[in-house]
Amino acid sequence: MLEQINFSSLSKCAHRQASEHVSSYYAASANPSPLRNTLTSNAKTDICIIGGGYTGLSSALYLLEEGFRVTILEAAKVGWGASGRNGGQIVNSYSRDIDVLEKIVGKKQAILFGTMAFEGSKIIRDRITQYGIQCDLKDGGVFAALNNKQLQKITQQKALWERYGYNQLEMLSQSDMKNIVNSDIYVGGLLDKSGGHIHPLNLALGEATAVENLGGKIYERSAVIRIEHGDPVKVFTNKGSVTAAFLVLAGNAYLGGLVPELKAKSMPCGTQVIATEPLSDKQAKSILPQDYCVEDCNYLLNYYRLSGDKRLIYGGGVAYGALNPSGINAMIRPKMLKTFPQLDNIKIHYSWTGNFLMTLSRFPQVGRIGNNIYYSQGCSGHGVTYTHLFGRLMSEVLKGQTERFNAFAGLPHLPFPGGHMFRVPFSMLGAWYYTVRDKLGI
Ligand SMILES: Cc1cc2nc3c(=O)[nH]c(=O)nc-3n(C[C@H](O)[C@H](O)[C@H](O)COP(=O)(O)OP(=O)(O)OC[C@H]3O[C@@H](n4cnc5c(N)ncnc54)[C@H](O)[C@@H]3O)c2cc1C
Repeated sequence: MLEQINFSSLSKCAHRQASEHVSSYYAASANPSPLRNTLTSNAKTDICIIGGGYTGLSSALYLLEEGFRVTILEAAKVGWGASGRNGGQIVNSYSRDIDVLEKIVGKKQAILFGTMAFEGSKIIRDRITQYGIQCDLKDGGVFAALNNKQLQKITQQKALWERYGYNQLEMLSQSDMKNIVNSDIYVGGLLDKSGGHIHPLNLALGEATAVENLGGKIYERSAVIRIEHGDPVKVFTNKGSVTAAFLVLAGNAYLGGLVPELKAKSMPCGTQVIATEPLSDKQAKSILPQDYCVEDCNYLLNYYRLSGDKRLIYGGGVAYGALNPSGINAMIRPKMLKTFPQLDNIKIHYSWTGNFLMTLSRFPQVGRIGNNIYYSQGCSGHGVTYTHLFGRLMSEVLKGQTERFNAFAGLPHLPFPGGHMFRVPFSMLGAWYYTVRDKLGI
């Protein structure tokens, strides 16, 4: 399910100028945040960032800490995109694992990726502590296996991550799992103690406050509609402009057609989430006694966790179709009940959808356009930790430390077969193929 984006004409995208977050449990429980100004002047700065999600905010924080002047232009509100709507799961590594990287880049370079694969979750925790961000952080994430093939895969994943020096993992037998997830559908699991979960919008809002406290400027309802390449680079909104030495493109799935070369090699995908009414302490403990977050090991995976006020937040799949709450309920509630039939009488209070950006390789696409425009996009579903890491890579590269940024930039960017006209049909075919595989457990 994909939010309707007018790719050809950004200035006509009314929803992109939204002054509110989309309706969700997160929007309803957001910490207070100011209504920020719209850009109405011609400003100058060292670094301009397009997009006020984690990619933009993490970059801004690192760059401000290095002493750069930073301005963020956000089309809607801080955290309006995936960063304010996601499952809130802090998942280590990348959307495909380091063994795949080993095959693409060789063993030596894979070691570099291995050292970065667990950095994002630490950055998030450091930010929360450093800036006193209230976002319901809880430790512990579980990968849940639905069949023996998946169990074998996570056993190999444990060995692989340990090979890269990561030792916060514990295999869970079927009976161990029952003490963590009270569901009959799993055959075992893998506990990652440094995984965890957060209220994602409150993390973004807290980071935005930290950006402003460090002197950064954030303009909301300020969609960039044109980029004038050059040195300096200049970007235009409907009512103003920003001239900057460097530009960071952090619009991800919502960037639309602003930068055609980025659009061509990625595909926005919708994923849906529901939140139940608050559960009693007893009900909450009866389904997730340890309060860890969980994702299953399907290609089109389901993910869930308890919120700070003990709602079950359950998301799943990649779907195409209607956007309305009843359509989302009809799709996601049966998945929730398959996991926890005991919640049959529990009401659903919120349903929402959001877009993440898929790449063909499922690795993020990172790079530079010309001399002074940097970009990162396409975490393909697992972006909470990687986007935080990217902020650090951005500050490194502008300080002249290019090795880690260049490692990501060196990964191949594969265009979708058939170009952007066929991206959705191809991915639907792909989704169908993987649904069949998931169902057959192959
Ligand atoms: C429903 C859902 C569940 C998910 N669950 C998880 C999860 O549990 N764990 C996980 O690791 N990952 C998850 N993800 C993925 C993760 O949320 C994303 O990878 C991550 O938030 C991307 O951050 P971002 O800053 O790059 O993009 P976004 O957060 O989407 O931010 C991009 C921002 O750029 C702005 N923008 C775009 N174009 C312009 C323009 N022209 N001018 C100005 N501003 C512009 C948009 O308005 C938007 O606010 C999920 C994603 C979704 C949608």
